[in-house]
Amino acid sequence: LEHLLLIRYGEIYLKGQNRPFFENLLLKRVREAVGDAESVFKNDGRFYVQGYAEQEEAALIGKIKCVFGLHSLSPAIRTEKDFDTICAVSTELLKQYPAGTTFKVEAKRSDKRFRYDSMEIAREAGAYLLEHTEGYMVDVHHPAAVIHIEIRDAGAYCYTQVIPCAGGMPVGCSGKAMLLLSGGIDSPVAGYMIAKRGVVIEAVHYYSFPYTGEKARQKVIDLAKLMSRYTGPIRLHIVHFTDIQTQIYEKCPQTLLTLIMRRYMMRIAEELAQKSGAQALVTGESIGQVASQTMESLVVTDGSVSLPVFRPVIGMDKVEIMDYARKIGTYETSILPYEDCCTVFVAKHPSTKPRMEEIEKSEGVLDAEAMIADALNKTETLWIQP
Ligand code: ATP
Ligand code: MG
Repeated sequence: LEHLLLIRYGEIYLKGQNRPFFENLLLKRVREAVGDAESVFKNDGRFYVQGYAEQEEAALIGKIKCVFGLHSLSPAIRTEKDFDTICAVSTELLKQYPAGTTFKVEAKRSDKRFRYDSMEIAREAGAYLLEHTEGYMVDVHHPAAVIHIEIRDAGAYCYTQVIPCAGGMPVGCSGKAMLLLSGGIDSPVAGYMIAKRGVVIEAVHYYSFPYTGEKARQKVIDLAKLMSRYTGPIRLHIVHFTDIQTQIYEKCPQTLLTLIMRRYMMRIAEELAQKSGAQALVTGESIGQVASQTMESLVVTDGSVSLPVFRPVIGMDKVEIMDYARKIGTYETSILPYEDCCTVFVAKHPSTKPRMEEIEKSEGVLDAEAMIADALNKTETLWIQP
């Protein structure tokens, strides 16, 4: 008998010639999450983790669940392909449920040499369980417990739980993008969604010391750390933004402050992206959420850069984004009440229908190149690990 984790990943993207590439990348990601390459191996279209102590199991499952590209996992017991042994193990699994629990046996036989087919295994094992336990009942339609038995090449696997994993595609199969990470609710969700499609995430945060303090900075680091459970290590650039904001504040019209600031954020993010080979920018903007996110404002924002800007939450309501944030575990940190750089230099009546000519004329008084070069010089770069 041996305890192990059985991990499923059979997804559409695995079809065709790219299969070995995806499988190897996914195996690498699982090994990184587990932190011990030796204990993870691939066998007939699945991954297995073995050789861990039982008290480590819950923590291991927590880490593996976050690996993009995985479908589900099951803590399982592997036995020889001997029917009596399989039945004895199944009995122990059923007995973990209180008497009175309804159950059924679900069997899968991929090793065709085994003497029973799937139907027969389910029937025979079911009969065995009824005979060797007391107080349990079979319910094939709505059972409270399912005893799974799989007969595969390397052995028989018995388990009861099928735990859903994060889905998506393995990080590293779809290029790299630069995420504008604020301390808010939306941008961590946006980063999660892009990474879920296999994109490596690098992040940039604009920081307005001394208007925003150490706690606001730490909050962003904490958010990046929470995200990194899914995305893997994140390179986080912290850009000192106060000088740029002050200049915009002093020299540009009130109504355009936020937009011009947004355009500077984009330009700096683009410079950082180009240096690190990121092919797109990502933000947590959603149409109409605030003045700077009207269609007109988004168009003007995009006009400041030539890289594409991806906005995965563009069509989501705030409540939907909040639900996502709770699901991925960033919500509680995002709502901590520390000042954000945008709430410090905020206009009373921001423009919602800016025109490009107006923006360009107002911005013209600033020495963009010098301001950006200066901000990049003062940028601090950290590696954030899960
Ligand atoms: P979030 O909840 O992500 O902060 P929000 O609803 O507060 O979003 P805004 O503050 O208008 O919206 O920001 C819109 C987007 O601009 C953010 O999702 C983020 O991508 C980017 N952004 C805003 N402030 C910063 C910042 N200080 N550093 C980095 N990116 C930022
Ligand atoms: Mg914000």
